[in-house]
Amino acid sequence: MDSVPVDSRHVQPEVITAADVVSRLEDLVEPKLKWSVLALNLVKSVVVGPATIDVHINLVTQNMDEILAFRHEVHERLKRFVRHESRVHLDHIAITEEGISGVSNIVMVGSGKGGVGKSTVATNLAVSMAKSGLRIGLMDADIHGPSLPTLLGIDTRPEVLAEEYLLPVIAHGLKVMSVGCLVDRHKALDWRGSLASGTLLQFIFSTFWGDLDCLVIDLPPGTSDIQLTLAQKLPGARLLLVTTPQEVVLGDVRRTMDMFAERGTQIIGAVENFAYHCCEHCGRDSAPFGSAPQPKAEQEIYEPLSSIETLARLPISRALTEASDAGMPIATSGTDDALAELFTQISIAVIAGLQNEQRDVYPHAISPPIS
Ligand code: ADP
Repeated sequence: MDSVPVDSRHVQPEVITAADVVSRLEDLVEPKLKWSVLALNLVKSVVVGPATIDVHINLVTQNMDEILAFRHEVHERLKRFVRHESRVHLDHIAITEEGISGVSNIVMVGSGKGGVGKSTVATNLAVSMAKSGLRIGLMDADIHGPSLPTLLGIDTRPEVLAEEYLLPVIAHGLKVMSVGCLVDRHKALDWRGSLASGTLLQFIFSTFWGDLDCLVIDLPPGTSDIQLTLAQKLPGARLLLVTTPQEVVLGDVRRTMDMFAERGTQIIGAVENFAYHCCEHCGRDSAPFGSAPQPKAEQEIYEPLSSIETLARLPISRALTEASDAGMPIATSGTDDALAELFTQISIAVIAGLQNEQRDVYPHAISPPIS
């Protein structure tokens, strides 16, 4: 029996392979979304036996006529191609609230304040995870300043599928969705007051993510209604905190952390950004903002943070800013291997955290890359 994931291409010219079968489904369209089932990741498996071909496809439509017509179309295509008996198995996949049902894990990247490098960390974390072969989505929930299009050099708009579903933009191996991809940056800022948390949720849920090993969400800073709602509506999502050594920021971080902890959100760890500066001339490290945590009077502020593991300390780096401004995340740009390595470390720690604890919440724990 030849059973392969649909992405694989096993070329065995003398026999029919699953990849041959998949190629016959190339332009097959999901009836409701009116988009290729392959592009939407809906073909779940193809199994070629000596006399049979079993094809498993997820469909969004629940319209019986559409389902029957779709089934007929698959049979017809395969009949023209092989003499095997084709057996078409269709399952329903909902993409409203369960639109993220193919998403195995969620990591929210949060901070107490804006400007601490949260989007930078979220982006490079996502890119590093994708580099290890995982299927990663990146959602910009930071409607205050949707910066992911800039950080990833995205200038295309997402396709709007039928029924207003959105197809994420593909960039640097990620599936990306951002308010900034849909509206101009200054208009996105106008949304600030009016974009209710429910609307943001709808935005997340009406994006067609397909199967993802992990969705990384770049949260707005602080503890507004949006973070509260996300914590409640995405049970099992983990939080990665981005901090800086400045105590006032740490105070905000503590509030953010407490808010999520009260709602049962587990915190994977913290990344300390702007932690030190490495002198270009003498090569020595210095800490222009001091180092955290510090004892004494600030103990009350720092104490709760001590329970959180610091996954990495990132230096102040001009290469990082330049790479971000150029839309080329440092994790892939090749301009600073040491920094890229730090993001690899963060991604390894995050993946390890998810693998240890997530299985009961999401049935498909992080799986090995599909080759
Ligand atoms: P946030 O999402 O918290 O608002 P950003 O990720 O957008 O913050 O970063 C704010 C600014 O700081 C950006 O211009 C970014 O390039 C820059 N930046 C972030 N981290 C670093 C760093 N470690 N070194 C130098 N610049 C950084």
